Amino acid sequence: MIIKFTKNVKESQIKHIENILKNQNFTTSYIHGDIYKLLIVIGDTSQLETKRLNVYDFVEDVINIQKPYKESSVKDRKKVKVGKVTFNDNNIVLIAGPCSIEDEESMDLLVPKLKEHNTSIIRGGAFKPRTSPYSFQGIGKVGLDILYQISHKYKIPVVSEITDVRDIDLFVKNVDIIQVGARNMQNYVLLEELGKTNKPILLKRGFVNTIEELLLSAEYILANGNQNVILCERGIRTFENQTRSTLDISAIPVLKKLTNLPVIVDPSHAAGHWEYVESLSLAAIAAGADGLMIEVHENPEFALSDGQQSLKPDKYFALVDKIKLVAQAINKKL
Ligand code: PEP
Ligand code: MN
Repeated sequence: MIIKFTKNVKESQIKHIENILKNQNFTTSYIHGDIYKLLIVIGDTSQLETKRLNVYDFVEDVINIQKPYKESSVKDRKKVKVGKVTFNDNNIVLIAGPCSIEDEESMDLLVPKLKEHNTSIIRGGAFKPRTSPYSFQGIGKVGLDILYQISHKYKIPVVSEITDVRDIDLFVKNVDIIQVGARNMQNYVLLEELGKTNKPILLKRGFVNTIEELLLSAEYILANGNQNVILCERGIRTFENQTRSTLDISAIPVLKKLTNLPVIVDPSHAAGHWEYVESLSLAAIAAGADGLMIEVHENPEFALSDGQQSLKPDKYFALVDKIKLVAQAINKKL
């Protein structure tokens, strides 16, 4: 951290700041330049309320060098393993399935086909956080039971969204990845508790959250001991209303630069319409995403949630073929 003082700062005022910091075990180094007087502060400043130094009228600026998300800014790429699937391994991981689990029969019909077409993880919501309390809320625990059965029957990992901290044990028993949805990205109690498990966590970006806020949310999980975090860009709210959200393609290279965590993209919730899912998927892979999570439904017209943005299987399979080509072009395995 660097503290920049105003031109008329007194030596005694600088000493005062130095003493405060030394008492907190920081090392300081004073630079009296021709134009600026600076204090370099050495030590882990992540716990320091650096903004508080701005209360002094002789402090002009406080420049943080250390990133506030220290766990995920470590250089080594974090590979997250889910059964035989590895994220962040110079590969593309495809997650697909319905928005909501509806019944076992429809999963029996869909899952084997998805698995045959390069899909390595199955998604399905059981507890659905819907914007309206009158919309379908998911089939709850029964849905998780179905996912568990499907996962064992077809030997494929499954992911589902948690909405309540009291359900953690239930999720740990039934799914291979626990999803934290956009609406719960800042549910810090939930994040802390998930940090105490060792289940891989798929953390989605909130639709009104910055990249830094997403990383700080990931930090809650990492700092509590769980190193298996996968980030997911799923579109943010902008003034544009032709799509449900605006997919922030830039978030992919930015997250790849700022963090060592795997980054995947959900084009379905970003687009809000099946017709745009293909373009967003290909763009995301080209931009460096480690995977995609796509909503697929046999009969989207009868889906209990998000049918409008779900791909029919044949459209998804055609997309997978195109994803293979993009992956090849950028030297990634699918
Ligand atoms: C979902 O993936 O089922 C979902 C609800 O997405 P989001 O949290 O991104 O809205
Ligand atoms: Mn959905």
